Amino acid sequence: MKYIDNLILGPILFLTLIISENVLSQTILIDPGHGGKDDGAKAFQSFINKRGGLEKITYFEKDLVLELSKRISKKLKGKNYRVFMTRSFDRTVSLEKRAEIAERVNADLFISIHANASYYKASGGFETYYLNNKSNQAIKKVEEVENKGLEGEDSVVNQILIDLVVNRTVVSSRALASSIHGKLKGFLGSSLKMKDRGIKPGLFFVLALSKRPGVLLEMGFMSNPKELRKISSSTFQERYSEAVVAGIEKYFSKTKKNLSSL
Ligand SMILES: [Zn+2]
Repeated sequence: MKYIDNLILGPILFLTLIISENVLSQTILIDPGHGGKDDGAKAFQSFINKRGGLEKITYFEKDLVLELSKRISKKLKGKNYRVFMTRSFDRTVSLEKRAEIAERVNADLFISIHANASYYKASGGFETYYLNNKSNQAIKKVEEVENKGLEGEDSVVNQILIDLVVNRTVVSSRALASSIHGKLKGFLGSSLKMKDRGIKPGLFFVLALSKRPGVLLEMGFMSNPKELRKISSSTFQERYSEAVVAGIEKYFSKTKKNLSSL
C-alpha cells in the first residue's frame, strides 16, 4: 500500500513544484525611463486643424515610455509573473531610487524602457542594450542622455560597481537581450518596417545599479517625424509590448532548459 501512495503522491508533489517554480518565482521590474522633472527626449508634431490653423503637439519621452511600460506590465501580469514598475505615473525617480526598488521587490529581471533622439532627423529604428564595459562612440551619446539623473555621481565607484555587476550578469543579460531583440525583429521589422539597429553593449548606470540581469530598450526615434507618428500609435505599442513579453518568456524557457541539462 505504501508503494502505491508514493506513486500517487510523487507526481502531485512534482507538479506543484514545477508550477510554483514556473510562475510565482519570477519577478520582473519594468522601468519607464525619466519622469517628473526629467522629460527625456522631446519632439513636436505640427498639423493643420479643422479651421485651417497650424497646431503643434509636444511629445515627451517620459509619457511615451510610461504608456508602453504599462502595456508590457499588464501583459506580463496576464501571464502570472510578479510585475512591478519603478513609477506608474509622471514623477521624478532618481537612478538610485530605481535600483532600490529592484532590491526591495527582489526583481529577477530589470527592463528599462526608453525612446531615442538624434540630431539627424533620418535616424530611425529600435535597439536593445545590455550592460557591458565595451563601448564605442555611437553608444556613448545614448549613454550620456540615459545616465542623467544619477545623484552624487562618483565615477570611480561607478566603474568598480560596473565591473562587478558585468562579471555577474553579462551572460544572462546578453541572453535576455537576444531573446527580446529576436522577438522585436519579428514583430516590428516586417509589418511596421522599423529598422533593426541591433543588440549593443552599453554603460548604463541604471542597469549597473540594479545589479541584476537586465536590458535597456530604445523603442524608436522621436526625432524622426515619421517614426514618432509610428511609435506613438497604439498599433506599435501593442506589437512592441507583445514582443517584449514573448522575449521574456523565451528567455525563461531557455534558462530552464540550461538548468535542467546541468
Ligand atoms: Zn531615455
